[in-house]
Amino acid sequence: MTTRARYGQYINGRWEKPSSEQWIDVVNPFSQENWSQVARGSKQDVDRAVAAARDAFLDGQWPAMTATQRGALLRSLGDRIAEHAERLAEVESRDNGKLIAEMRAQLQYAPEWFYYFGGLADKIEGMVFPTDKADMLSYAKYEPYGVVAAITAWNSPLLLAAYKLAPALAAGNTVVLKPSEHASVSTMELADLFADAGVPPGVINVVSGYGHEIGDALTGHPDVAKITFTGSEATGKRIAGIAARDIKPLTLELGGKSANIVFDDADLDLAAVGAVTGFLSAGGQTCVAGSRLLVQNSIYDEFVEKVVSIAKAARLGDPFSADTHIGPIANEAHFQKIIGYFDIAKADGADCVLGGRVHQDSEIKDGWFIEPTVYTNVDNSMRIAQEEIFGPVLAVLSFETEEEAIRIANDSRYGLAAGVWSKDSARALRVADRIQAGTVWINTYRVVSFMTPFGGYKASGSGRENGAVAIKEYLQLKSYWIGTSGDVSNPFVIR
Ligand code: NAD
Repeated sequence: MTTRARYGQYINGRWEKPSSEQWIDVVNPFSQENWSQVARGSKQDVDRAVAAARDAFLDGQWPAMTATQRGALLRSLGDRIAEHAERLAEVESRDNGKLIAEMRAQLQYAPEWFYYFGGLADKIEGMVFPTDKADMLSYAKYEPYGVVAAITAWNSPLLLAAYKLAPALAAGNTVVLKPSEHASVSTMELADLFADAGVPPGVINVVSGYGHEIGDALTGHPDVAKITFTGSEATGKRIAGIAARDIKPLTLELGGKSANIVFDDADLDLAAVGAVTGFLSAGGQTCVAGSRLLVQNSIYDEFVEKVVSIAKAARLGDPFSADTHIGPIANEAHFQKIIGYFDIAKADGADCVLGGRVHQDSEIKDGWFIEPTVYTNVDNSMRIAQEEIFGPVLAVLSFETEEEAIRIANDSRYGLAAGVWSKDSARALRVADRIQAGTVWINTYRVVSFMTPFGGYKASGSGRENGAVAIKEYLQLKSYWIGTSGDVSNPFVIR
């Protein structure tokens, strides 16, 4: 895989050095080697990127394109991503430590967002209204906002970028994209494909850097008309403050503490795999992690045993090896945060029945590895049941009745996703209806698609990505009145 020693910022169709002339080392979480550098952006870089996006929105090739031409351009970008999927996946694995199998699946899938929203670009229909006023025609049409600031998290940089870029561009906006300082390289490699796909200069700009250094400059920039963000609740709140101050529309995809509910009438073998998917896929570093497992009392011990026996067999190791199930934690600060929860769980009185420690292995010399960890006898008020850990840590709770399961599941500040396992479909649907979450999986877990809306209830966010509704996040409605009678006789009374 060829990568560059240094990645500048992609502004107005050109690669530019950061005005600070400073760089951030890119660390491989498995080997802990520095393997590249990305620009440490500053306010000046953000200003240049936003100016390029504003100019591209107002004038030149982009606004001159028809929606059909924009759609073709998006499909061409999807094709470029498909051609380079393997290389981009390798870059992501090296950058964030997640399994190559996972990143390959994401990158092979990401083009679908560009095909789907490319197809939607010229199907954004306005409306004509009936009117109670004689001699008037009233209609409305959707228009793009202008410059969109799109900010992504490190765990799935390009898939999350696709969630935002495809609908934002299909709607006719221009974009300044900021990846996480922990995993920026794949987004920079993506920028290399823009010109080849026919994206005019300034339509997509990419700035890198620390969120705390350039985030406010980007979201608070007067020429940024819309913000779309994926990341932590804390950063989401800060951005929401800026959006409120400046009256900017905002899409937020934040964290979760999703409940995975297993009833005693479930297929327990299937549900056990679902429970492990919930807390161990991506090493638990996924927003939809089913990190609260709610198990009906009558099957509690038997079910925990099943989950533990699958989790115990998970192999930790090199994310590039086909045998590996769990890679390293993505960065040291996050590794330390997860470890901190072991003391918290102990102090709160949970029982650790698996893991609860850093993984020691003679074959893994470096890398931040944490063993799959399962806590039982967890009360929902404990911090391990209420806070997003974002690691391979499961809190198992028990319940007696359906009502109790629903109450516990909803007793959370978050509402991103949930799982329900039962062979009784009426029960599963009844429970799913009452769960306060943006996605509920029944007898399955962690499925997403470009066609199905995704987003959070409560502190897990606002707005929706994916599915046709997502394009509305990037559009505003303009209403028109046309007087056909020539009657404007009384200027002092509303008509
Ligand atoms: P984070 O909030 O630390 O960082 C996310 C992004 O925000 C990064 O690009 C960062 O540089 C930037 N940022 C930081 N401070 C900023 C500021 N003041 N203004 C603007 N941008 C700023 O989150 P993270 O650690 O990268 O990601 C993990 C979190 O993301 C978890 O909570 C996870 O649940 C969430 N996540 C949610 C979804 C979803 O779709 N709901 C998907 C993936 C991850």
